[in-house]
Amino acid sequence: MKLIEQVAARYQQKFNRQPQFIVRAPGRVNLLGEHVDYNAGLVLPAAIDRATYIACSPAPAPHSTLWAVDYNQMATFSAQSVSAKTQADATPLPEWAFYPAGILWTLLQENLSAPAMNAVFASDVPRGAGLSSSASVELSFMLAWQTLGGWSVPPMQLALLAQKAENRYVGVNCGIMDQFAAACGVEHKALLLDCRSLEWKELALPPDVSIVVADTTIRRKLADSEYNDRRQSCEEAVRFLQKSLPHIHTLRDVRVEDFNRLSDQLPVKTERRARHVVEEIERMNQVEALLAAGDIQTFGQLMNQCQRSLRDLYAVSCPELDALVEIAQTLKGCYGARLTGAGFGGCTVNLVAAAQAEAFALTLAQKYQTQTNLQPEVYITHAARGAEVKWKSE
Ligand code: ADP
Ligand code: MG
Repeated sequence: MKLIEQVAARYQQKFNRQPQFIVRAPGRVNLLGEHVDYNAGLVLPAAIDRATYIACSPAPAPHSTLWAVDYNQMATFSAQSVSAKTQADATPLPEWAFYPAGILWTLLQENLSAPAMNAVFASDVPRGAGLSSSASVELSFMLAWQTLGGWSVPPMQLALLAQKAENRYVGVNCGIMDQFAAACGVEHKALLLDCRSLEWKELALPPDVSIVVADTTIRRKLADSEYNDRRQSCEEAVRFLQKSLPHIHTLRDVRVEDFNRLSDQLPVKTERRARHVVEEIERMNQVEALLAAGDIQTFGQLMNQCQRSLRDLYAVSCPELDALVEIAQTLKGCYGARLTGAGFGGCTVNLVAAAQAEAFALTLAQKYQTQTNLQPEVYITHAARGAEVKWKSE
């Protein structure tokens, strides 16, 4: 059964009636521009065809009741209980409920109407795998409350509110890319976002190229602290470089020539990490022209360069990601392969000639399993729409 039908059927079971509407919001891959969103650089995500679905209606109660199908758990919270991070019965919210509760919390701060809801939700975005399941949950609840509240704000604004929820309520120091992609995704398009100005444009992906996602199945507990550590290195590099380049605010402002001239002033580890960011931001300057010309070959080489840089300079890869990428790069039809998301396990993204995609996916899975004894999930996806109302009852 499709996910949309599952949430509808579960809603009927839990609440003894049909939902009023169903919304969806997707996960994403990032094709290029990794670990640069929090350095105000350019990124190139695409929303994918995996998503969170919520079946929803207004609640006949002061509190919302949410069923998380994937956890088989329920949580309740209201405008009164949300800031204390507690449920309607004063017990603590389960961790997964921080994401929807965080959305309610930001909407209340913005004075946007967020009536209590009954909801059942489920997702096929793998959790903690670099495909941004959290933003997909956030944006789906954003859409649900927008629909219930009867207001409407532009998708980029929804993304910013969701980022605020994740930063301030959940307590994860993420950039804007994930929420942006979940909110603004466009069918068959990659989205070139300038994380400083927040301007963005759609770039067409050639129809004969497939996006293939491969999951190492590895999830590392330390990923959050490693991520924060990388962010601190970037800030430290800016402070060092500001002594010679007083005009800079972030690594976005540092040209590669200036970096090369000044890099010996930085501690070794900081230098390596900052070099990844400065060079990755420079790679991003070529993206628009390459995709406009349909030059996926050269674009794929930039993906491969990015992977090497993430592995050797930024040090966010791991043996399983390296294996998955190295196998992919030897297979027929593969233009480029690299880890996507923060790293330390999770998924790779591969651009593959559409005619070869099925064979590529099969061989990649087989060879990875032979090499690592792990059974990867490999699937062919495509750039998909952002958050939307999928269905409404008459
Ligand atoms: P990701 O890279 O997938 O975004 P995060 O650690 O940022 O990983 O977010 C994962 C968290 O988001 C989960 O631990 C859970 O709290 C929440 N979440 C994601 N998917 C679901 C889901 N299907 N149901 C409930 N909560 C979810
Ligand atoms: Mg996340």
